[in-house]
Amino acid sequence: MSQGDSRNTRRGTRRSDGGSGMGKKSAHVVAIALVVVLATVGIAIAAMVRSNSTVTITDQTDVSTSADGSSSREVVSDQSASSAASATTDASTSAASDSSTSASSSDSTDEAARQSDLELDPSRTTDWLDHSNGVKTVYLTFDDGPSENTEKVLDILDQYGAHATFFVTGMRSDYYNMIGEAYRRGNTIGLHTYTHDYATCYASVDAYFNDLDQIGQVVKDQIGYVPYLVRFPGGSSNTVSKSYCSGIMSALAPELLARGYQYYDWNVSSGDGGGVLSADELVANATAYGNFTNVILLCHDSSAKTTTVEALPRIIEYYQSQGFVFQAITRETVVVHHGIQN
Ligand SMILES: [Zn+2]
Repeated sequence: MSQGDSRNTRRGTRRSDGGSGMGKKSAHVVAIALVVVLATVGIAIAAMVRSNSTVTITDQTDVSTSADGSSSREVVSDQSASSAASATTDASTSAASDSSTSASSSDSTDEAARQSDLELDPSRTTDWLDHSNGVKTVYLTFDDGPSENTEKVLDILDQYGAHATFFVTGMRSDYYNMIGEAYRRGNTIGLHTYTHDYATCYASVDAYFNDLDQIGQVVKDQIGYVPYLVRFPGGSSNTVSKSYCSGIMSALAPELLARGYQYYDWNVSSGDGGGVLSADELVANATAYGNFTNVILLCHDSSAKTTTVEALPRIIEYYQSQGFVFQAITRETVVVHHGIQN
């Protein structure tokens, strides 16, 4: 053992390899040199691959960061800061890679938890929670989209740090991508109806569930699973369905719950479900919430509802000025049920 070997193991290994070839043919030396070159190239390729995957993970982190809202954005930016700090002391590639991996895995854990909460599970039930959570909360709900208005609604929500729930239809396949976009931006997706044709979906119990399965598949294509949340066309208290099937709402409500779904009506309406109202009228309706602590607010984001888009910033500003926060529906959210009338 030479002094060089004890000083530096890596160099010592090389030297002893070289030493074993000293007295042999120069071809062996060339072969060893080739091995060293190949090993170096291999390390370089590995570093490139690792740096590429770092970039990919960072992109994913950015996407899910903007979807998760401001609190998780702060957490992620803290992690970025700590990775930058460690990069100055450690080898930068591995430090950045490790940090991105941990940020990404915590994001995917959050996503898995979100899916687990919102995914339809026939063996699971969501109680009818008629009590509020005690925190002044508005659950904005948008029916009848997606449409050309959905992206405008999403941008307004982002602007105010608000989340909402979209009970979607299958009527506009050209805007199906907005279902995924709304979900990625932290909003909840629920099922409204595929056809939104009362004569079709309220023809019979089977017809209703056929329609529901269709919109469930549309949503699954966009967000990866079928959500448990449902809003009946016209609400559970609608009487229109009487014209097509007497007693159908009385049959559908318990059957939905038995299949693992939960349906959500509302306790405040913007009034935008009928003819087009002015933005001023919508703001007045939407902010007349009485003394509810938890407001489930009915709005629509179908293409004709341009005044809803116009009114939305004022509706949000009003409630925020009253100390309300805007959340998307989860299984912890108050469940409002109207009285069934058919
Ligand atoms: Zn509707």
